[in-house]
Amino acid sequence: MNTVKKYFHPILIFLIFETVAITLWLAKHNLFYLFNFSYIGVSIALGVFLYIRKYKHARRVVQLLVGLYMLVYLGLICNENMQIEGFWYYLFTGVFEAATIHYAVAKIFGPLIFGRGWCGYACWTAMVLDFLPYKVPQKPRKKLGWIRYITFAASLIFVSALFLAKVGNIERVMFWAFIVGNVVYYAVGIALAFAFKDNRAFCKYVCPITVFLKPMSYFSLFRVKCDKEKCVSCGKCKRVCPMNVDVTDNSRKRENGTECILCMECVKNCPKDAL
Ligand code: SF4
Ligand code: SF4
Ligand code: SF4
Repeated sequence: MNTVKKYFHPILIFLIFETVAITLWLAKHNLFYLFNFSYIGVSIALGVFLYIRKYKHARRVVQLLVGLYMLVYLGLICNENMQIEGFWYYLFTGVFEAATIHYAVAKIFGPLIFGRGWCGYACWTAMVLDFLPYKVPQKPRKKLGWIRYITFAASLIFVSALFLAKVGNIERVMFWAFIVGNVVYYAVGIALAFAFKDNRAFCKYVCPITVFLKPMSYFSLFRVKCDKEKCVSCGKCKRVCPMNVDVTDNSRKRENGTECILCMECVKNCPKDAL
């Protein structure tokens, strides 16, 4: 009984994903959904299990398992554009395919439950950026968040233009857009990380997906909360946070609250177990 209690969260996560997997499999008569969501569910549940077992690299294990699967298997092998352009593409064609479902689950409705867990545990862009040396930002945050609206609009205009210009074989264009888009994301992400001495600078200023992620994660069910009785205001949690979140403020309006990627660095480093 104690074991079930201890591992309640990984079990719950596994069951939630399995429910989604089976529901979509039966609704769409497609075995792919059973495999896809079961794989992701097992990967995340494994990460949470390792975290409970205090394995230092638990989050990175999930990030690599899910990120590589999305990038290599779904993107390169199955030719599914899982970037934001792919979402627009499948939305415009009215096809409820992997990219649309992926966005609905991971980036639009899912954040109502697990906030920006996607950014901490699954994104293949951040999977690479997190290997860079600036895990904690070395410089104060810049007011450059407006860039994300430009990249968001650019992605929408790009796909709309393909449809309006009646470009032939858009599917092929989307495959190449996926490859080029990823190369650009990695190049810009790495350059910004070194320029701002912050691995997550791309996430903070440029990533268009945050236009969905930020407002939805504002209402997130899963949040790191601070026990004010235990907190001694030492500030360590903020110093180790890659996203500059003021986690000692329990209100939803906490500074950079919609940036939290649930990496748990603050929780691990709090000397008073207040988080
Ligand atoms: S902000 Fe964008 S690039 Fe960064 S982890 Fe989230 S989805 Fe990935
Ligand atoms: S690290 Fe812990 S004790 Fe220190 S400010 Fe943060 S929550 Fe409070
Ligand atoms: S360190 Fe804490 S507040 Fe900062 S992103 Fe990670 S979980 Fe969120």
